[in-house]
Amino acid sequence: MRAVVFERYGEPAQVRDVPDPVPAEHGVVVRVEASGLCRSDWHGWQGHDADITLPHVPGHELAGVVEATGAGVTRWRPGDRVTVPFVCACGSCAACAAGDQQVCERQTQPGFTHWGSFAQYVALDHADINLVAVPEQLSFATAAALGCRFATAYRAVVQQGRVAAGQWVAVHGCGGVGLSAVMIAAASGARVVAVDVSPRALELARDVGAAACVDASGVPDAAEAVREITGGGAHVSLDALGSPVTCAASVNGLRRRGRHVQVGLLPSADGTTPVPMARAIALELEILGSHGMATHAYPEMLRLVAEGVLRPDLLVTSVIGLDAAPEALAAMGSAAGAGVTVVEPWR
Ligand SMILES: [Zn+2]
Ligand SMILES: [Zn+2]
Repeated sequence: MRAVVFERYGEPAQVRDVPDPVPAEHGVVVRVEASGLCRSDWHGWQGHDADITLPHVPGHELAGVVEATGAGVTRWRPGDRVTVPFVCACGSCAACAAGDQQVCERQTQPGFTHWGSFAQYVALDHADINLVAVPEQLSFATAAALGCRFATAYRAVVQQGRVAAGQWVAVHGCGGVGLSAVMIAAASGARVVAVDVSPRALELARDVGAAACVDASGVPDAAEAVREITGGGAHVSLDALGSPVTCAASVNGLRRRGRHVQVGLLPSADGTTPVPMARAIALELEILGSHGMATHAYPEMLRLVAEGVLRPDLLVTSVIGLDAAPEALAAMGSAAGAGVTVVEPWR
């Protein structure tokens, strides 16, 4: 099969022929029809993810068709349209038993712990536990985002953020996951303040439901701007980019008893990021993480997509073939991108 491969961190990836994957006993091989290009792919390529061994094929936000199944798979057959949470759970650890498959103790992640979906085929583990059926009406390009950014945003806003109608939600960073969060929060009846340094990203944020926008490059303090717009601070705030600056701005833009949800990855040399904890104490803030979404939480989200309440299709701004993927991967490091780019490996 053809795949995007990198041999060294940060050096240009290449498209070349590699052996086709074979399904594990409990797994499947999926013919990849669409794979979203996510900032986490860029982090992996940069060497920020300890799980990756080289050479590597990135890609973790996918939708496609089951091509082959392992002998132990009972729920899926070749031809089934599927997506998968990027956190593939084991199904048998304590976290899985508690329904928290998104933080499974023995999770695998395509594009991180093994080769991913910037390829014509991808192997996925524990298929009976992890695959999600994609309805006929949903295009593969749209469904791909459900594997990472859209589902992650959904969990961050609805489950971790516990957003209620009428509340203020701040979203710092309006790339794919941030725009998804804006859309989901607005659909939940919240008033959304979108924060980004890119006018194009803010324009898209307004299109998908932001009530107010803050150009962080044009104000001295984005958190103060959020506090002003929201009359004292947001009830819920997300760092959807993942940087010390956006993380701090998100925490500092909250009102009393507010909730910060960290969504964007925060790699750093020593594995830690400064967080304004003095404010967390004084205002009794909640500091939460969000990590994908368990398969059992998908039906509610898919219902809202089917009803047209949520429109992940509106977030796809670019569809490219495998040959253009290495360059697009490298470009994810700059903030210039707007919306979601989807790779279609058979293009
Ligand atoms: Zn992702
Ligand atoms: Zn598990």
